[in-house]
Amino acid sequence: MSKKRLAVVTGANRGIGHEIARQLAAAGVEVIATSRDPQQGRAVAKELGVRAFALDVTDDKSIDVLASELRDGLDILVNNAGVAKNGFDVNVVKQTLGVNFFGAMQVTERLLPLLRADARIVMVSSGMGELSSLSRELRARFDDPSLTKSELVVLMESFVDDVAAGIHGEKGWPTSAYRVSKVGVNALTRILARELRDDPRRIFVNAACPGWVRTDMGGRSAPRSPEEGARTPVWLALLPPDDGPSGGFFRDERPISW
Ligand code: NAP
Repeated sequence: MSKKRLAVVTGANRGIGHEIARQLAAAGVEVIATSRDPQQGRAVAKELGVRAFALDVTDDKSIDVLASELRDGLDILVNNAGVAKNGFDVNVVKQTLGVNFFGAMQVTERLLPLLRADARIVMVSSGMGELSSLSRELRARFDDPSLTKSELVVLMESFVDDVAAGIHGEKGWPTSAYRVSKVGVNALTRILARELRDDPRRIFVNAACPGWVRTDMGGRSAPRSPEEGARTPVWLALLPPDDGPSGGFFRDERPISW
């Protein structure tokens, strides 16, 4: 009998991440549902019949502890944890990029060596991260097919610096930390897919937009249920061996533009 695949879902105590964990478990995957709050994590584990793990994606130590737990490898990583804060200033920008972009990047980099053959990485992104929110010059830099991870980090840090200096508008950035964080997540998806193209493990990396979903983040008037929002990330997490896209951005299981 083949061993069950093992998935890690970040931010799985509520919202879309909770539903992704539920759908993956229902598909026969062994799920580690991670939460910042260990008590909430235990409650989710009990409810869904999955494993719980305490993880703050902004805390390197907590990522290291998770990695040591995964010594035997991992098949699916869903970077779902995210924040959308009210207001706009340098602190909001730092916190938002810290979770949505740097958190997803750190978790992925740390767990990448542990990924097994045919592993899948899913970035839960957003249509709000479309390149169209940037000036033409910034768009070209983010969209450069030779952009490296370290150059991307420099670009993301330059947004923080430009906000601190009060010049982000004239430099071509939108007044939205959330948008820029997801622009970064999307660029990271393309870079990772490119870096992994020749990896013998045949790992696929894709980004998903769940649509506007009724969660604490999306609010009550959002048209989609968490079940609908989780569908495309779960589809990407379960792409069969050798068959599927990598380096794409999807909503409703269909490609959408960056
Ligand atoms: P949500 O209900 O607010 O849930 C966010 C989750 O992220 C919670 O589990 C939260 O944990 C976790 N989180 C926040 N900061 C964290 C950190 N530092 N470390 C670990 N976990 C952290 O939001 P959601 O609507 O489910 O959103 C999930 C993802 O979908 C996000 O990436 C979001 O950007 C994306 N998305 C959502 C919508 C929408 O309409 N809802 C649309 C497009 C994209 P705590 O409970 O501990 O705070």
